[in-house]
Amino acid sequence: MDTYLLKLGELTLKGGNRRSFERTLRRNLEALIRGTGARVETTAGRFYVHAAGDGEGRDAGAGKRIEDALDHLIGIAGWAKTRVCEKAVGAVIRACVEEAQALAAGGVETFKIEARRTDKRFPLDSYGIAREAGEAVLREVPALKVDVRSPQRIIAVEIREKAYVYTEGHGPGRSSGRRGLPVGCAGRGMLLLSGGIDSPVAGYMMASRGMRLEAVYFHAYPYTSEEARLKVVRLAEILGSYALGVRLHTVNFTEVQLRIKEKAPPEWHTILLRMAMMEAAETLARRRRCQCLITGESLSQVASQTIENIACTGSRVSLPILRPLIGMDKDAIIRSAEAIGTYETSILPYPDCCVLFSPPHPILRGDREEARRLYESLSLTPEELNMTLEAG
Ligand code: ATP
Ligand code: MG
Repeated sequence: MDTYLLKLGELTLKGGNRRSFERTLRRNLEALIRGTGARVETTAGRFYVHAAGDGEGRDAGAGKRIEDALDHLIGIAGWAKTRVCEKAVGAVIRACVEEAQALAAGGVETFKIEARRTDKRFPLDSYGIAREAGEAVLREVPALKVDVRSPQRIIAVEIREKAYVYTEGHGPGRSSGRRGLPVGCAGRGMLLLSGGIDSPVAGYMMASRGMRLEAVYFHAYPYTSEEARLKVVRLAEILGSYALGVRLHTVNFTEVQLRIKEKAPPEWHTILLRMAMMEAAETLARRRRCQCLITGESLSQVASQTIENIACTGSRVSLPILRPLIGMDKDAIIRSAEAIGTYETSILPYPDCCVLFSPPHPILRGDREEARRLYESLSLTPEELNMTLEAG
C-alpha cells in the first residue's frame, strides 16, 4: 500500500486560522483524489494519503491519478511517496538502503541523509540516524557517494508515530508543491475569462491565494465561432482542475457590440465594450455572491491597458477589481500559462469578440468624463447587458 506525505509550508505560519485552513485543505484534497480509493489521514499536523491496497477497489491507474491530484493541490509546499516502517533502527536503515538503491537505479550519483526525530524514545538521535544510515548506504550501494554540500538527492528520515523514509524535492514520485493557500479560504471572485493567454493566469493566481472562482465569458455569436466558446470552456476546465471546479457563465454580447458600433466613435469601441463587460460582470458577481472581479489586465500591454484606459474600464463598477498581472511582463505571464497548462489552448487561433470589433486606431488615453458621456449615450438596459445568461 503506497503512502504519500504532504508538507504544508505557508499554512503553518497562519496562527489562529490554521485549523480552518487545514480543514479546507483536507476537503480539497479529498475532492481531488475522489474515485482513486485512497484515503487521507491527518496526524500531528501532517497530512498523509494512503492509496488503496490491492483488492481494495484499486485500479491500475490509481497511483498516477493520486500523484496528479497532489500536483494540482494548491496549498502544500511539497509531497513525496514515502516508505513507512517500524520504529526500529534496523528497519529504518533498511528502508534508507532501499530508497538509495532506487535512486542509484535512476542514475543518481550523490546523496545525503537528513534525519529528524520527533519521538525522543528512538535510540539514535538525528545525527546518529544520518551517520548509521549513510554508512549502510555507502556499503551496500557502491554507485552512490555522499555530498553534504550539494547532493543530487536528499534522503529524508522522520521518526514520528511511525518512521518515514523518502526522497526530497522534485522528481518521480515527489514534487515541490504548488504552495499558496487552499482554495476556499479567501472568498469568491468572478473572473472575466477570455480565450487569451492572460485571464486564465490571472484566475490561477487568485485561486492560489485561496479564492474560489466563477468565470464569465462574453461572446458575439454568430460573429464569433463555436470553437472560440469551446476554447474558453476548456480553459475553465483546466483552471477548475486546480480551483476545485470553475463554473462558467456565458453571456451573448452581440447586441451590445452592435450598439457600440452604431453609436460611438470607432477609437472608443474597445473601451466602451470593456466598460459594458465590467458592468455586466458585476451584476452577475453580486448575484453569485462573488466579492470581486478579476481580470487579466497588465499595465501598458495593449492600448486598452494604459492607466487612463484602465481607469475608464473600471469606472462603472463598485466591487473591487483584482488585476493580479498588472505588473508582470508578457514573458513571465507566458511562462505561468505554460506551467499551469493553459498556454496551448489559449493560442488556438479562434478570434474572440474583441478582435472582430477592435478599431485600427484605439484611443490611448481615454478621458473618464468623455467615457462616461459616451457610455451613457449607448443607453444599454440591464437586460441587454445580461443577454442569455447561461450557467455552464
Ligand atoms: P487576455 O489574454 O486575457 O485575453 P488581453 O491581453 O487580450 O487579455 P484584453 O483583450 O484587453 O487583454 O482584455 C483585458 C481583460 O478583459 C482580459 O484579460 C479579460 O479579463 C477581460 N476580457 C476581455 N475579453 C473578454 C471576453 N470576451 N470575455 C470575458 N472577459 C474578457
Ligand atoms: Mg484578449
